[in-house]
Amino acid sequence: MEQPISVTRSNFNDWMVPVFAPANFIPVRGEGSRIWDQENKEYIDFAGGIAVNALGHAHPVAVNALTEQATKLWHVGNGYTNEPVLRLAKQLTENTFADKVFFCNSGAEANEAALKLARKVGLDSGVAGKSGIVAFNNAFHGRTLFTVSAGGQPKYSQDFAPLPNGINHVAFNDLDAAKAVINEQTCAVIVEPIQGEGGVILADIEFLKGLRALCDEFGALLIFDEVQTGVGRTGALYAYMNSGVIPDVLTTAKALGGGFPVGAMLTIDKFAPHFSVGTHGTTYGGNPLASAVAGAVFEFINTPEVLEGVKHRHQYFLDALNALNAEHQIFEEIRGEGLLIGCELKAEYAGKAKDITTWAGEEGLLALIAGPNVVRFTPSLIIPEQDIDEGIARLKRALAKLAK
Ligand SMILES: *Cc1c(COP(=O)(O)O)cnc(C)c1O
Repeated sequence: MEQPISVTRSNFNDWMVPVFAPANFIPVRGEGSRIWDQENKEYIDFAGGIAVNALGHAHPVAVNALTEQATKLWHVGNGYTNEPVLRLAKQLTENTFADKVFFCNSGAEANEAALKLARKVGLDSGVAGKSGIVAFNNAFHGRTLFTVSAGGQPKYSQDFAPLPNGINHVAFNDLDAAKAVINEQTCAVIVEPIQGEGGVILADIEFLKGLRALCDEFGALLIFDEVQTGVGRTGALYAYMNSGVIPDVLTTAKALGGGFPVGAMLTIDKFAPHFSVGTHGTTYGGNPLASAVAGAVFEFINTPEVLEGVKHRHQYFLDALNALNAEHQIFEEIRGEGLLIGCELKAEYAGKAKDITTWAGEEGLLALIAGPNVVRFTPSLIIPEQDIDEGIARLKRALAKLAK
């Protein structure tokens, strides 16, 4: 076989549309919670591909599901259904509030489907102008034009005007503000149980309960965007299970495929029939390869051992971070649920989160930011304690550079 084309990090700048600024090394392989780059330098992975690699890298459960399906059937198109997608739909409906599932390939597409469903339900209600969507400041729902408009960070949407209208943003965790804009014309309220990209900010349970009541009062769909919080990330299968508030629609992606692109919108029998043949669709949604991997990943995660393990690791992680912080006084607050953890920098270090992740990379640690002031960790749900210890040791060395 011919040698593969030789590539370097600088080729990114040569050939890639510059929407990302990746680290100055190129990961080439991974195993569990460790990754190696082109120079064979090792990294501990506290980023988990942004809450995606729930089983770490090259987990045999995922590898076997993928390779077994790869020898059978990759794709058939929506003129035919397939066994893996039906099995995955059974798993998702049997283990959640949902009765029906729409499959797609990403979080944005899952939210796009959810918002379109809500608009359709609003239209079918017969109430004139029932198309209003209520969303929250600082929310993140994806990068399609509709989802970026629902998101609450204008810097991501303003350059693409004219935007879809009828979307109202109010402060997160402010029930009175939500109450002031939810009315008969509202078809949906979309909210993250924990704002991930927005800084790892937990929704108050009373806030979610209040939104539920307002949606019931005015006949609006309550959409939980669980793209980041879903599939075990918080120690529950889905974060709504922690709050006891049941949405009408839930979107899931990221960890669902453990690294294989897949997304889904879950809803109930009352709303699913508002989508009919041809109303909405996608070429790859429910593709056999994606569904086979997601089915295996979901089955592995949805056990008391794995979910309890996430809660245990949360405490272990927090203890280590708190000990580190007691020594160095860098973080104002360390927060999150399960293995979605945010460390907010003290005011004197404002804006330094990105630098910290860069220094972490130099020390052999992959970490994330959530805005300019929050360092975020979303590692594998089964990361070994010794990898947490080693990662924290490397983080400590990276933070030492901050003091300088
Ligand atoms: C990542 C994310 C999305 C977008 O998912 P993509 O797969 O990137 O389209 C949407 N909502 C939330 C909460 C996310 O964290």
